[in-house]
Amino acid sequence: MGGIVHGSSIPNKKNALLTNDVETTSIWYNSLRDETGKKVLEEGMPALLDIYAKYNVRSTFFFTAYIAKLYPEIVKMIIKDGHEVASHGKSHLKENGFDIMPLTKQKDHLEYSKKLLEDISGQEVVSFRAPALRVNNDTVRALIETGFKFDSSVASQRFDFFMSFGGIKKLKWLYSPRLPYRVAENNIFMKGQSSLIEIPLTALVTPYVGTTMRLMPKYTALQRWILHQESKLTGKPMVFDIHPNELIDESGDARNIERRSSNPIQYLLQDIVRSKLKVKNLGKRAIPLYEDMILFYAEREYEFRTIRDYGESLKV
Ligand SMILES: [Zn+2]
Repeated sequence: MGGIVHGSSIPNKKNALLTNDVETTSIWYNSLRDETGKKVLEEGMPALLDIYAKYNVRSTFFFTAYIAKLYPEIVKMIIKDGHEVASHGKSHLKENGFDIMPLTKQKDHLEYSKKLLEDISGQEVVSFRAPALRVNNDTVRALIETGFKFDSSVASQRFDFFMSFGGIKKLKWLYSPRLPYRVAENNIFMKGQSSLIEIPLTALVTPYVGTTMRLMPKYTALQRWILHQESKLTGKPMVFDIHPNELIDESGDARNIERRSSNPIQYLLQDIVRSKLKVKNLGKRAIPLYEDMILFYAEREYEFRTIRDYGESLKV
């Protein structure tokens, strides 16, 4: 079924777009660490690639330029299985958020990461996901002017923005379209006529991501079933987001929770609660949970595709 939405057409076939954000973020330490990047390279990435090879999955990997420069092999290792190399900005430093950088700086970061990833991989890089999903009205122009065609930074109808960085700006998630759309020239959260296509991350009130899967596996199974009904009705692709750093274990060492917020309530919600929650089912325990999820889609004959491959098949 499905497909005609405001004059655009979404393919009928069920599509599962598994996406991976590759960075040096340590969930255990709640900070950026080169050592974590090494574990991502040596443990997290091989675990993910094994699962994908087993189910014949093609997926998209969004790399920060930082980790690609530090460990170029992390980019090269995905090529032979037909995965897509994509940009996750320059780094996950708070000051590199696309919602706070001026247009020229956004362009610098996009150009830099695109060139670096293309040089390492030999693949053209056309897809982007902003670090921490932080974007602003200049981001559309910055992406178009640096040669990007697809963005996946919008999490339509996801309600957890008050717990995350750049929270209040993400209120726009409440009204952004659920189906892929051509974005407005001055607003990534709205439909329009620019050359950029948004392929929103799937959400159903709560995010449909590795973190939720690890924290609440039973709830995620229910969410998955409801989203599957929606896909059958509207042709909406399933866009899941996982991080190879969720598949590594750093729990051998003691940790301090880094204070990132100055506001005491934000500190409690964002730093303490989030950090305590986010470590559940980290490491090898996350692998069977993810494999179950992929099996759900494989059994229902979803096609596993990259953002680029899916995006190029759209007529929106
Ligand atoms: Zn990220």
